[in-house]
Amino acid sequence: MSSQPSSDNSACPRCGLPFHCGVADARCDCFDMQLTPGLREQLAAQYRSCLCVACLKQLKDQAAAAQQ
Ligand SMILES: [Zn+2]
Ligand SMILES: [Zn+2]
Repeated sequence: MSSQPSSDNSACPRCGLPFHCGVADARCDCFDMQLTPGLREQLAAQYRSCLCVACLKQLKDQAAAAQQ
């Protein structure tokens, strides 16, 4: 928890846990997430990179709950 890479793509910008987004490799866990276009826009505006799977799941659940 002492070192926090900022420009690196190795930590989730939301929870800080180490993870690797494979968006540059054309393969990433975020691709499997059924995020709504609105949520994707929100994430793009809020974070520079995509988030870890746990955070994506949380946000997805929150968005789903908010729609009810
Ligand atoms: Zn995270
Ligand atoms: Zn990703």
